[in-house]
Amino acid sequence: MDKLKLAVQKSGRLSEKSLQLLKECGIKLSNEDRKLRTVASNFPLEILYLRDDDIPQYVEQGVADTGIVGFNEVQEQQKNVILVEHLGFANCRLSLAIPKEELYTGIHYFENKKIATSYPNILKRFFQEHHIPVEIETIGGSVEIAPSIGLANAIFDIVSTGSTLIMNGLKEVHTVMKSEAILIKNENFTQEKNLILEKLLFRIKAVRNATENKYILLNAPNEAIPEIINILPGMKSPTILPLAQEGWSSLHSVVKEDQFWDIIDQLKDLGAQGILVCSIEKMVI
Ligand code: ATP
Ligand code: MG
Repeated sequence: MDKLKLAVQKSGRLSEKSLQLLKECGIKLSNEDRKLRTVASNFPLEILYLRDDDIPQYVEQGVADTGIVGFNEVQEQQKNVILVEHLGFANCRLSLAIPKEELYTGIHYFENKKIATSYPNILKRFFQEHHIPVEIETIGGSVEIAPSIGLANAIFDIVSTGSTLIMNGLKEVHTVMKSEAILIKNENFTQEKNLILEKLLFRIKAVRNATENKYILLNAPNEAIPEIINILPGMKSPTILPLAQEGWSSLHSVVKEDQFWDIIDQLKDLGAQGILVCSIEKMVI
């Protein structure tokens, strides 16, 4: 049987999470130290370990069929690949930052300024769209020190918490794009490879749904149930079971992780008690 070749970052910020996702999808890879490639023992998948910069090109050329890479890298390189799925990790943004003592007046501040970055293409497109002439200084790394050593007036770089900027006396003034890890694929796919990819995607979605949702159980007086159902939609609708105590029921449902605290407050106000919230291992909708 044909195998699907998946490129993942060899070592860096995407590596552990990429491999963890495959593990949660039930895919077993050999524990040997990451060589250039590994074959899964229980799924038709071959992993290629590469530098993240190389992944879009390898996928475009079909050396790898699919790859897990930052959306930023794909935007920078403009290779012909297809975005298959957002993966929800390695969330960051690409922002412009300037020395903190500078007065920022809007993006025209950057007119004729020199900006250091490892993402020259994204930056060039951004300022072209805004018809603002800038000078772009492409450097490979440690972009944040460029203003203090006099290499540039400003920088354009990846930001997650912003602490690196602060440590270097910079302030973030404009976010140009948001990024997260994505699954990409080659434009030409055989039917057989597509079937494997579908299978992999089915598992990835089940894992992602599980991490984005919580299972919730609670007790409530029967008269509060209609209102509680309104705020607890569940996958179809909540399960309701009578309690031994007259006039009370137990409700089971699924809530989105990011709405969780709001919902808990509303449930308490409606008289819910004994609220239990559990993680979901896998969730198939
Ligand atoms: P390689 O050696 O493979 O070329 P790299 O040094 O270019 O690695 P990393 O720093 O490992 O790249 O980052 C890989 C990707 O992880 C980035 O392209 C971006 O999508 C994401 N990323 C980078 N920094 C952060 C961060 N601070 N928070 C979240 N995600 C990040
Ligand atoms: Mg890289």
